[in-house]
Amino acid sequence: MSLEKQQAQELIDFIHRSPSTYHAANNIREELIEAGFQELDLRDEWTIEKGGKYFTGKNGSAIFAFTIGKGEIEEEGFQLICAHSDAPGFKIKPNPEIEVEGNYIKLNTEVYGGPILNTWMDRPLSIAGRVCVQSNDPLNPEHLYVKIDRPLMVIPNLAIHLNREVNEGVALNKQKDMLPLLSMITDEMEKDNCLINLMANELKIDAQSIIDFDVTLFEVEKGSIFGLNEEFISSPKLDDLAMAHAGLKALLNSKTTNKTQILAIFDNEEVGSVTKQGAGSPVLRHLLQRIVYKLGKNMEQFQRAIYNSFMISADMAHAVHPNIPEKHDPTNRPMINKGPVIKIHANNKYTTDGDSGTVFETLCRNANVPYQKFVNRSDLVGGSTLGNVSTGQIDIRTVDIGNPMFAMHSVRETGGVKDVTYIRQVFSYFFSL
Ligand SMILES: [Zn+2]
Repeated sequence: MSLEKQQAQELIDFIHRSPSTYHAANNIREELIEAGFQELDLRDEWTIEKGGKYFTGKNGSAIFAFTIGKGEIEEEGFQLICAHSDAPGFKIKPNPEIEVEGNYIKLNTEVYGGPILNTWMDRPLSIAGRVCVQSNDPLNPEHLYVKIDRPLMVIPNLAIHLNREVNEGVALNKQKDMLPLLSMITDEMEKDNCLINLMANELKIDAQSIIDFDVTLFEVEKGSIFGLNEEFISSPKLDDLAMAHAGLKALLNSKTTNKTQILAIFDNEEVGSVTKQGAGSPVLRHLLQRIVYKLGKNMEQFQRAIYNSFMISADMAHAVHPNIPEKHDPTNRPMINKGPVIKIHANNKYTTDGDSGTVFETLCRNANVPYQKFVNRSDLVGGSTLGNVSTGQIDIRTVDIGNPMFAMHSVRETGGVKDVTYIRQVFSYFFSL
């Protein structure tokens, strides 16, 4: 297998193991531990030293890994790569069981972020997330991860015979049309506790001990490589686990340099980042401050470190669509497998400016990686990402970039095999400086 295909398959495997934001963060955590990174709890007193490798987490769904540089931090600064662990989808509501005409049980859900709703229909789905269990300390319940690896439910479409206009476009109602079918009702079943009983069974714990849960739907089928020459990737959650995974691999493969390298994987980008584990919180600023102070430095040295730092805000980008190419800017036409995309917005929804764009272009050139540029058509409102939200907390020079893809926020997104290797090369070069 070529290196490119091998790295694409590693990404597909990682995403398959990471069906919830908690699983994504925990899988990153396990790889860090295996590579000798030391886990630090935000609540404990830390000891850190030059050359050391550490990580800490927030809420079980955000994770921050760092290797302390050998140089003086106020002069060398931080090299940061940021990405996010969450993806749009459906969260299971409390008391989710809904009985239909005495025969079916379906589950009540709430939409998280902005999924393309119709892509979730007629696909075998299951559940993954975090279950909170009573402990002896009322303020600190125990957290368990749950992931059920078999098809459990489907959100069925309506037959075309019952809606002849279906191919003219259907407005899907989030409360009515998007509820997954879980079960037929049987005499033995406890109808009101299906979900809790299912999770308790899976976790081999008493159903009574489950107090609450943060559980989401995921598509059961694993991602794949496809195309005449196996040049594409079809997978859930390329946005943004592809960037999180590439950042992780670059950090794990990097050697200690004079600069302090940081990988920051935030949660909740898809809902605006303003949560305690999101890029809109002070979590990253606190972390950087703590590192600088723990190295025996003062406030001025912290500020100097910030102004000697550079951040890559890595989130996926839109490639020119093969069927609808007119949705793109006339002169900037990102294509799949043609390298990372620098994202630019005149009104600063992206952090990129001439200065930070030049830095990233230079990184790509030096790493022998092609690169492309994205701007919105001027008559379209595009998306935004965590880069500019993070800047509100900490004013580091930042560039917004990401790999090109189709169908962002579909349950099944499309990316390029070569792009996986390209971005890993650029990130590795960045962490080698
Ligand atoms: Zn994203």
